[in-house]
Amino acid sequence: MNITITKTDQLKPHPKDTALGFGTVFTDHMFNMDYDPKNGWHNPRIEPYQPIIMAPSTMVLHYGQAIFEGLKAFRTEDNQIQLFRPQENFKRLNLSARTMCIPEFDEELALEGLKKLIRLEKDWVPKTLGTSLYIRPTIVAMDPFLGVRASYTYRFFIILSPVGAYYPEGFNPVKIWVTKDHVRAVRGGVGFVKTAGNYAASLFAGEEAHKNGYTQVLWLDGVELKYIEEVGSMNIFFVINNELITPALNGSILSGITRDSVISMAKKQNMKVTERKISIDELFDAHAEGKLQEAFGSGTAAVISPVGIIKYNDRVINIGEGNVGPIAKRFFKDLTDIQYGKVEAPKGWIEKITD
Ligand SMILES: *Cc1c(COP(=O)(O)O)cnc(C)c1O
Repeated sequence: MNITITKTDQLKPHPKDTALGFGTVFTDHMFNMDYDPKNGWHNPRIEPYQPIIMAPSTMVLHYGQAIFEGLKAFRTEDNQIQLFRPQENFKRLNLSARTMCIPEFDEELALEGLKKLIRLEKDWVPKTLGTSLYIRPTIVAMDPFLGVRASYTYRFFIILSPVGAYYPEGFNPVKIWVTKDHVRAVRGGVGFVKTAGNYAASLFAGEEAHKNGYTQVLWLDGVELKYIEEVGSMNIFFVINNELITPALNGSILSGITRDSVISMAKKQNMKVTERKISIDELFDAHAEGKLQEAFGSGTAAVISPVGIIKYNDRVINIGEGNVGPIAKRFFKDLTDIQYGKVEAPKGWIEKITD
C-alpha cells in the first residue's frame, strides 16, 4: 500500500528544549489509516495534524474500544534519529487489537508509516540529552452506534509529541502508595493490554495517592490483594539479596518492553533474575531483615523510576535512605546509552530512521 503525504503550510513554532514537558505539544503532521469491513485497513496517509471529527454517538466515546502504544524517537550525538524496539510496540498493539476485537493491521506498514512521518517531522526531535519525541499510535472504534458490540469501522492514527527530560533535576526516588481498596486489573480481564479503560480505572486510586502525598500507586493483584503487580503505569523490580525480582506476567500485568529489556540486560550481566509472584508481605519482611536493597519501576516514559518510600496500611518503609541504588542507576544508564546511540545496541533493538 502506498502511503500518501499531504503537507501543511502552517508550521507551528517549536518550543525550546528546556520548556518541554510531557504530552502537551504536537507536531505538524500525523499518520492516519481507516478500516471498514469492505476495504480492510486502507488509505494510509500522512496529513496535517488535525481534529478527528466524530458523531456524539461514536462507539469509542461510550464503550472505550480504544487501544494505544507509547514509544520514543531519540536524536543521537551524531544527529541521527532512531527508535527503540518499535517492532515490539506494533506487535503489542496487534495483541491489544485481538483482545479488544479490533481488526489486526500490517505491522510493517505501520512501522513504514511511522518512519515516513518522523522523517517529515525530523526537526521536531529535540536535541538535548534526555529529551525525545514521544510517539502515540492509537486505534479507536468509529461506528456511530449505541448498541454494545465491536465496531465495524476504525481509525488508526499516530501523533508525535516532543518531550522533555524526565529527570531534569536529577534522578530522585519516588514515594509509592499501596492501595487496598482498588485494583487495576483482574484475572480474565484486560490488564495485559494497553486499552483506554485500564487507565480510567486507575485514576481514583491515583488521586487518593496524590492526596496523601504519594506519587504513584503500587497495585496488588485483583484476586487476593496480596501479590505485587505494577507501579502506576510501569512494571516493577526489586533487588533482594542481590537477586533481581519482578512479578511474573499473569494476564493482569502489562508486558513492558522496558521490563523485557531490563531482564535481558540483567541476564547478560550475569545477575540472578527471577520472574515470580512476590507478595507485599514478603517485600516488607525482606525490608525488616535488611535484605531489600532496591525497588524501581520501568517504562518508556521514565525508563527507570527509583522507588524510595512505600506505604502499606500503617507501615512505611524507606529503601536506600533517599538515594538511588547502583542497580537502578546502572539500568538507567545502560538503557539510555543504547537509546541515544552512545553504545552498541543488542541486535534488533535500534531502528535508524535518518541516513
Ligand atoms: C505501557 C505500560 C507499561 C510499560 O511498558 P513499556 O513497554 O516498558 O513502556 C507498564 N505498565 C502499564 C500498565 C503500561 O501501560
